[in-house]
Amino acid sequence: MFKAVLIEKDDAGYRATLTDVDDARLPDGDVTVRVAYSTLNYKDALAITGKGPVVRKFPMVPGIDLAGTVEHSSHPECRAGDIVVLNGWGVGEGHWGGLAQKARLSGDWLVPLPAAFSPKQAMAIGTAGYTAMLCVMALERHGVTPDKGEVLVTGANGGVGSVAVSLLAKLGYRVVASTGRPNEAEYLKALGAAEIIDRAQFSMPGKPLAKERWAGAVDTVGSHTLANVCASMKYRGVVAACGLAQGMDFPATVAPFILRGVTLVGVDSVYCPRPERLEAWQRLARDLDPAHLDLISHEVGLAEVIRLSGELLAGQVRGRLIVDVN
Ligand code: NDP
Repeated sequence: MFKAVLIEKDDAGYRATLTDVDDARLPDGDVTVRVAYSTLNYKDALAITGKGPVVRKFPMVPGIDLAGTVEHSSHPECRAGDIVVLNGWGVGEGHWGGLAQKARLSGDWLVPLPAAFSPKQAMAIGTAGYTAMLCVMALERHGVTPDKGEVLVTGANGGVGSVAVSLLAKLGYRVVASTGRPNEAEYLKALGAAEIIDRAQFSMPGKPLAKERWAGAVDTVGSHTLANVCASMKYRGVVAACGLAQGMDFPATVAPFILRGVTLVGVDSVYCPRPERLEAWQRLARDLDPAHLDLISHEVGLAEVIRLSGELLAGQVRGRLIVDVN
C-alpha cells in the first residue's frame, strides 16, 4: 500500500482525498519509482479542485511532477537505484502522477536528476521552473540578449514568474516584474528584479499599440495582459507565452506583429521533446542560483495539498510549493 491523493468523479460528485492505495492498482509502465518529492503546480490545483478540465480519466492521482528513485525497471535506460525527475507527458492528467508515494511510468518520460540538484531542489524547480527555463531559451533563440533592452515578467510572484525573474537577472537582463502583490517587492528584488510594476496596467482592454518598452517578455498570464504586453513590445521584440492565469482568451490585434515585427513564441512544457528538456535541465543547473530556490519554495506535506490548491488558484501562494510525499 502507498499513500496518494486520489481524484474521483462519480454520482457522488468530484472529490480529491488522501487515500491508501494498493500497489496492484498502479497503471501500466516499465519503470516503478519510489517518489521522494512532488510539487503543487497551478495545473495540479485545477485538477484537485476540479476548477479546470485537467483530469482526463478517473480515478486519477494528480501531480505533473515527481522526483524519486527507480525501484524496478525493464526500460533499457533506467536501472533500479537511478534518481530521476519527471515533468509532464500527461502524467497527473491521463496517467497517475506524482502526488503519491509510488508511481509507475514509461521510462521514456524520465530525465536523470542533474548532479547539481537534490530531489527536493528538483521539485522546488518543478514544471514551473523548467517552463521558465524553456521561456528564457525561447527568448534567446529569437535573439533577445541583455543589450537589447528590458525584459518583462508577468505573474512574477507565481512559480514560473519567480524562476523566470531569477534566471533572467542572473543572465544579465534588466528584469521588470509585473505583479498584483506589490507587498512582495522585496522578495522579487532579492530574486534580481530591477523594478516592480503593478499588473493592473496590463489587466484591462488596451490599445492595439502602446509605447514601446520591452525587448523581451515572459508572460504567464494570458488574456488582456498578453495583448497589452504584445502592444508594448519594442520593434522586433519577443514574447514567450506560457500561461493563462488571467484567462485563456487573447483579445489582441495583429498591429504589434505586422507593424513592429513582434514575435509571439508559444511555450509548452508537457510534450516538449526530450533533447530540449535535457538542455533545459542542464541550463537550470548552470543558470539558476541554488540559493534562490530556498527563497522561492517552501515545503508542505501530502495531506496539505488539497487545502492549498484553493489558495494557489486564488493567487495567495508565493513561489513554489514542494510536497514531501512521505
Ligand atoms: P502560480 O499560481 O504559481 O502563478 C500565477 C501568477 O499569476 C500568480 O502568482 C499571480 O502573480 C498571477 N495572476 C494570478 N491571477 C491573475 C489574474 N487574474 N490576472 C493577472 N495575474 C494573475 O502558477 P504557475 O506559475 O505555476 O503557472 C503560471 C501559468 O503558467 C499558469 O496559467 C499555468 O497553467 C501555466 N503553465 C504553463 C505551462 C506550459 O507548459 N505552457 C507549464 C507551467 C505553467 P502576481 O501575484 O505576481 O500578480
